[in-house]
This record gives sequence, structure tokens and C-alpha cells, in this order.
Amino acid sequence: MADIGVPLPSTTGFAPATIVDAHMHVGEFPLFNVRMDAPGLSKTLDHYGIAAGMVFHPDNAYVREVVEQVEGAYGLVWANPHRPGFVEEAVELFDHPKFLGVKLHPLLDSYHPNDPAVHPLMEEVVRRDLPVLVHCGHPIFTLPWSIEELAVEFPEAKVILGHMGHGNIVYIDGAIDVAARNPNVYLETSGMPMHTKIAEAVDRVGPDKVLFGSDAPFHEVGVEVRKVQVSGLPPDLVERVLERNSRKLFFGDERASAPIARA
Ligand SMILES: [Zn+2]
Repeated sequence: MADIGVPLPSTTGFAPATIVDAHMHVGEFPLFNVRMDAPGLSKTLDHYGIAAGMVFHPDNAYVREVVEQVEGAYGLVWANPHRPGFVEEAVELFDHPKFLGVKLHPLLDSYHPNDPAVHPLMEEVVRRDLPVLVHCGHPIFTLPWSIEELAVEFPEAKVILGHMGHGNIVYIDGAIDVAARNPNVYLETSGMPMHTKIAEAVDRVGPDKVLFGSDAPFHEVGVEVRKVQVSGLPPDLVERVLERNSRKLFFGDERASAPIARA
């Protein structure tokens, strides 16, 4: 695979921050005309001060290669219930020190988030206390209310609404509502266009439950970070969203000085 493929923009004017990025992709995406390979990811982490990035792709073996090569990269297991043996594959990867959770994409993989086929995976996830990031923001399978059915079925599972509803205000407000009424539901900020909704979300769902995500290479990390910085949150809460909340959720320790490693 070619190198990152997109030039890294200048970070002039980019307020320094240490970042934990809950949502990154590696691979080739011809439909979107973007790509990111291991060297590109490594450069991106360095360039933006990302101490740890959660990375995924439907080919988990490829992600394993990438996270073994790139120091700050960690994997989320892409789980597709239509794939035979998907639970066994996930369980095997959960023993890998750099796989820290699960990614579900019910829209691309075409299933209801609370399909009974997903339940055996959720039981394993609950047993290991691993977070599950679910793409959230498009009909028919990834609306916040459908993902809520899964979160209600598994109240002990930590369910992250990726993109917190994405581009539609009805879905964004719906995602915030779902996280506000379910203690086990978190929000992740990537690709959601309204900076002010990040502050509103923190206010409504609590200071620990909103996580920064870039969705690189589909979105530019600097733009996504800037959204959090200008959201209206005070500096201590900006730091929580950009770094500490994900450290706590994925690594079990929110202290910035804590080594980036699974507890
Ligand atoms: Zn994504």
C-alpha cells in the first residue's frame, strides 16, 4: 500500500494537547479516495501529538500487523456477526495486548445492532470489561435508538456511539438523549459538525462520557481537535474529552502521566 496519500497539513495555530483518539481507520477506501497505512498512521500520531489511537479495519489480521508496527496504535476488533467464527476470532484477539475493544458497523455489515447474533460477542465483551464502539448516525441500522436497544439489553457493556449521531441534528440530539438516559452509553465526536453540541453533550451526559475521535483518514485530525477546543468547554473539560476520558475507558487510568498500556 502507498504511503499516507494525503499531505499532512501545517499545525501552525494548533493549540498543543495530548490526544487519545478513539476512532481511526487504516486501509484503502477507494469510494472515499482516502487511505492510511502503517507509516502514514505513525506520521499522523506524531504530527498531532496523539499518544494513543484506536485503529480498525474489517481485516483484523491487517490491523494486528499495523498495531504491532506502530507504537501508539491500538486495535479495536472489527466484529461482523455475518462472518462465521466472528466471536472466536474476537476472543483470540482480546488476548493480544494491543486490542482494547470492539468496533461494530451495523450499517456496512447490514444487521440490527441488537440482533441476537451479536449477543454472544457482547457476553465476552462484558466478561472482559471491553468497550464497544458502534457507528452511529445513519438509517436503517445505526440510528441511536437502535443502538440503545443493545445498550439496554447489556447494561454492563460500555457502548460508545461513534460520531454521536453524525451529520443530522435529529440524530445528534437523539444520540445525546440516549447517552443521557443510559449510564453505559458514551459519545464519540468524529464527523459531527456542530462544535457547540460537544459542550452540550458534556453538560447533559456528564464529564466522563464524551470521547474525542478523529475518524482519520476520513476527517482531518486538526479540524476534529479544533471542534473540541472551540466547543465552549472550559480547558479542564477539553482535556478530559481529548485525552483523559479515553485513557480511563480503554486503559483504566485517566492520569496523563500514566503509561499508555492496558491496566
Ligand atoms: Zn469511522
